[in-house]
Amino acid sequence: MSTTDIEQELTTEQQAVVDAVNAAAAATTAEMSDQEKYGVQFDHGLAWVNFPVGDGGLGVSTSLREFAADQMTKAGLQPPPRGSNTIGFGMAAPTIVAYGNEEQRAVLRKIYTLETIFCQLFSEPGAGSDLAAVATRAVRNEDGYLINGQKVWTSSAHNADMAILVARTDTEVPKHQGLSYFLLDMHAPGVEVRGLRQITGEAEFNEVFLTDVQIPAGYMLGEPGQGWKISNTTLNNERVAIGGGNPREGGMIAQVAKTWRDNPEYRDPLLHDELVRLWVEVEASRMMSERLSQKLAAGQPGPEGSGAKLAFATNNQLLSGLEIALSGVDGLRYDTYEMRRPVEHSMTGRIPGYRYLRAKGNSIEGGTSEIIRNIIAERVLGLPGEHRVDKDVAFKDLPK
Ligand SMILES: Cc1cc2nc3c(=O)[nH]c(=O)nc-3n(C[C@H](O)[C@H](O)[C@H](O)COP(=O)(O)OP(=O)(O)OC[C@H]3O[C@@H](n4cnc5c(N)ncnc54)[C@H](O)[C@@H]3O)c2cc1C
Repeated sequence: MSTTDIEQELTTEQQAVVDAVNAAAAATTAEMSDQEKYGVQFDHGLAWVNFPVGDGGLGVSTSLREFAADQMTKAGLQPPPRGSNTIGFGMAAPTIVAYGNEEQRAVLRKIYTLETIFCQLFSEPGAGSDLAAVATRAVRNEDGYLINGQKVWTSSAHNADMAILVARTDTEVPKHQGLSYFLLDMHAPGVEVRGLRQITGEAEFNEVFLTDVQIPAGYMLGEPGQGWKISNTTLNNERVAIGGGNPREGGMIAQVAKTWRDNPEYRDPLLHDELVRLWVEVEASRMMSERLSQKLAAGQPGPEGSGAKLAFATNNQLLSGLEIALSGVDGLRYDTYEMRRPVEHSMTGRIPGYRYLRAKGNSIEGGTSEIIRNIIAERVLGLPGEHRVDKDVAFKDLPK
């Protein structure tokens, strides 16, 4: 057997992916709309190959996602742009597949075809880092649950059709135990979305007011009181989704390396040292993400995803600052400060000044860097936990 033969030998799981790609390519025609093409990919298990058969997957290991993406590209199958439904792909889908019943899992296809855009209704004015302090109430009635409360910093709520929502169903028990997890129709009566302008000028996120919003009982994910556990599945996936995923010299480092190559007049040895140092940092964190995705193959994402998210935020802020320094006077310009409501935000689509300002949010969104460091200290390094005085007190008795 030659070396080439050995290289070409596929594992059973790889063969399943190749067969699915071939079948999907054969079932796709040029006349189909993009949405129909995405539907064919889902039906052949190529939406997320590690998900179970019937849920848009093939039940193969997570480490085959990249292999599947390569095979799809070779076969001319274009997957949907994930950035159009970041929360649907990165947070809602893995949580729904882990905890959803058959009826709830039906939304997975619409997430993949971009028919149902998701947002995440977790943060509140008094519950950001301390997510367990959520005060939005979900009160049981004969039609399901009645929701009242206010959410904040909800990315893409203005474009969303559905939300993942954490709300309090029980105030008699300590804060972590009284939460439940819901799917919410963003077009339901009583849902009001108001744009919030951020440092970049954009209104990428929103305040969301929920007034007597009726949710059918079937929209609860898991059991009453399981909200904390389920939202941790979402948050762990969120950190992996934010922290991982760029190819070598992809994302921000690609922008900065290009600026370096295009602007010899601004180069100096100090900036060169900084560029090389950050290139190495980004490469190390890319390899960490690579290892993480292999660990994912063995089960659920763990707190290690926090390391990738922390490195992503730190590197992005340093890189966007370096890009400004390498852009000379142009780096001080800004394009437009008009209030825009983007469908998706793009770090690469605008000027260095935009990237510099937008990167500030990277160390806040998906959990602040301080909280991530706490998680690494407590759950990865096993250091003693923070002193928590409210752990055993009923939510209704906590000072507000
Ligand atoms: C761009 C962007 C998009 C976002 N999108 C969404 C979204 O779609 N959906 C959603 O639900 N939320 C979203 N958020 C909200 C985000 O998750 C919260 O802002 C974040 O969890 C921090 O909460 P907070 O703003 O209430 O800050 P706080 O919790 O009030 O924290 C303030 C400061 O105190 C520090 N701190 C707090 N507690 C501790 C502690 N125990 N130890 C050490 N330091 C501590 C924090 O790290 C921070 O620096 C988004 C935020 C941003 C910036």
